[in-house]
Amino acid sequence: MAVEDEHPDVVEQVDSLRVPRYAGFTTFARLPRIDDVPDHAVAVLGIPFDSGVTYRPGARFGPAYIRQASRLLRPWNQELEVAPFRAAQVVDAGDVAASPFSIDDALATIEDDVRRVTADGRKVVVLGGDHTVALPVLRALSAQHGPLALVHFDAHLDTWDTYFGAPYTHGTPFRRAAEEGLLLKDRSAHVGIRGSLYDPADLEDDARFGFTIVHAQEFERRPVHEVVARLVERVGDAPLYVSVDIDVLDPAHAPGTGTPEAGGLTSRELLALLRGFRGLNLVGADVVEVSPAYDHAEITAVAAANVAYEFVSLFALGRS
Ligand code: MN
Ligand code: MN
Repeated sequence: MAVEDEHPDVVEQVDSLRVPRYAGFTTFARLPRIDDVPDHAVAVLGIPFDSGVTYRPGARFGPAYIRQASRLLRPWNQELEVAPFRAAQVVDAGDVAASPFSIDDALATIEDDVRRVTADGRKVVVLGGDHTVALPVLRALSAQHGPLALVHFDAHLDTWDTYFGAPYTHGTPFRRAAEEGLLLKDRSAHVGIRGSLYDPADLEDDARFGFTIVHAQEFERRPVHEVVARLVERVGDAPLYVSVDIDVLDPAHAPGTGTPEAGGLTSRELLALLRGFRGLNLVGADVVEVSPAYDHAEITAVAAANVAYEFVSLFALGRS
């Protein structure tokens, strides 16, 4: 097809019809490493950090595990009708060497690395890591694009204040981001919220920061396309960051995570929601909180790898 001739220099995946997909080096979707090619438009960046978790640990092993499951991703996205690894150069940028002992040091290292791989408008898909990592990613991207619209898929609000006095945890990144002016008030949303809270005031507190909420319960009465329409209208043409905590999925669809909550989305619903963001001004995205030790049969890693695939596909399609 024509797009092939337009980008003759793009290095795509290792061809799984020539080299078995279970052979060879493990990079995301069998793509080249960042230092294998002269430049990139989209970087897939691992952040193996989980020192901000409050319950089950293990998301530090998420990036390697998602990469392993991503070996099955094929070149053509049939729903979005795009060849995501052909339209532009996509690379695996490796992992951030984030300190497991100092959260402050880790946040600084993550922000530096994200700034480096996203210079001059390059795009990033982050593989977490616990949800703490979203804060330094938002710091790096908002420094370049200005305040961002955030669509945040999660069972949890992640706008709590502190845990045991600690301000930087996986339950607090979006409160810190709002306080720091990294987010566009009234352009941001949580999707998939459910489960028990500490207090009804948690929800009022959250609204003060400018979020709207699509509760998981809403999917009982509203089809996915209506939720998409509501989110697309809210985001408008703002620079957009999409953050996917894999626990937005029901534990049946993502058992391998740190703080599972019953009654979540299906992976089909989540992927359809993401595809609905086609044409928006997406500048960065993450999929976080995959904890392999609690997984079975790569269920969670397959879901996360496909979430990352949809992000790369959205970048390939660009704005419309
Ligand atoms: Mn969560
Ligand atoms: Mn979260």
